[in-house]
Amino acid sequence: METNRKKYYITTYGCQMNLHESEKIAGILCEMGYELAENEKEADIIVFNTCCIRENAEDRAEGNIGALKQLKRKNKDLIIAVGGCMTQQEGYADKLLEKLPFIDIVFGTHNLEQLRPLIEKRLNGKKHVKEVWEKEGEIVENTPKTRTSYPNAWVNIVYGCNNFCTYCIVPYVRGRERSRKPEDIINECRSLIKEGYKEITLLGQNVNSYGKDLGTTSFADLINEIAKIDGKFRLRFMTNHPKDFSLELIEALKNNPKVCKVVHLPVQAGSNRILKLMNRHYTREDYLSKIKLLRENIPDMAVTTDIMVGFPTETEEDFLDTLNLVKEVGFSGAFTFIYSKRNGTPAAKMDGQIDEETSKRRIMQLIDVQNTANRNQSKGYLGKTIEILCEGYDEKRGKYLGRDVYGRMAYFSGDESLLGQFVNVKITKTGGMSLLGDVVKD
Ligand code: SF4
Repeated sequence: METNRKKYYITTYGCQMNLHESEKIAGILCEMGYELAENEKEADIIVFNTCCIRENAEDRAEGNIGALKQLKRKNKDLIIAVGGCMTQQEGYADKLLEKLPFIDIVFGTHNLEQLRPLIEKRLNGKKHVKEVWEKEGEIVENTPKTRTSYPNAWVNIVYGCNNFCTYCIVPYVRGRERSRKPEDIINECRSLIKEGYKEITLLGQNVNSYGKDLGTTSFADLINEIAKIDGKFRLRFMTNHPKDFSLELIEALKNNPKVCKVVHLPVQAGSNRILKLMNRHYTREDYLSKIKLLRENIPDMAVTTDIMVGFPTETEEDFLDTLNLVKEVGFSGAFTFIYSKRNGTPAAKMDGQIDEETSKRRIMQLIDVQNTANRNQSKGYLGKTIEILCEGYDEKRGKYLGRDVYGRMAYFSGDESLLGQFVNVKITKTGGMSLLGDVVKD
């Protein structure tokens, strides 16, 4: 149904953290009376929620914003706002406004909650509205959210990062670690379960250091409390840092059946020399001993990871250390990346940048090893009946989809009534990372 309400459109780049922040942006806009537009052409306000982790994401965002020049020319009232990590880089907001002067609003990662007054300033005639705080402010609670990921709900527990991995821009654009109060998190989770959400994913750059700044509650305590909430739901969390992954946490995972049986523990590299250069604060041996401890306590726990190849000075020997670690651990999934030079980080200034051809060859080798592991693990599912939380519909495959407690994706036929339901699926076919099956009625 057509209404006279003004419309918004949001383009999001980057990770889950950003997707959740876009839910907050949408929440603020809905509270101001806007509704979702089907496309940019229909919109009265277009927001770009950017990411600067990789330089190509930044180039893509700038290209997409630049492409709106024509739209802006045709519609002078159209508001274009740009926020997210990209704008938070030192001096970037001014450069962006110089380069693309038709942008109306630029806001930093620390200023998302001020979006409403910034839009109002623009509506009241101010031309270029810019608000980018250098330092993070107090955590703002109760920002409205228009959630888009039912039956999953993302919940921030800690913002920022203190780790300063030498390749990463996050601590510079997201500030230092700040934990939300446990009672605010638990109340949010309780309301979400009451509203019918079936899966909660706790978010932070390093969830394991949750509470260090509060001094009263650890991440394990938080898991124990959230798992006490009544109702059937799954609890996930991301992302972890191996140096802070503790026995106390492993015990909390073991003692709470609502916690999913998968941990994302980014290793990044298997060579001690490279890990040191990356400033990761653990060795290959530390990482492997944490995996051992985890599996001694929870033998069927799946582990996924992030791995980077082509970090400055990476030798063939370093790369083989990574490859061997991958074989030894038997990850259930891995996000693999070629190191990408990020200006403003220490690694960008390091000698010994690796050429593209070598990095590409190494990543192909790595992907090959991980694909074999994925295929073999998937084969183990054949003929089994597993519980899946139905998350959505895949138009391309014409199938419904969802994950099991280990995070493995399954596709199956069904109807809309399955959305948000736990269904038993008998696996009839397996592929690389995904499974195909039929719903089994009780
Ligand atoms: S832990 Fe390292 S990689 Fe992760 S956000 Fe912090 S600095 Fe970046």
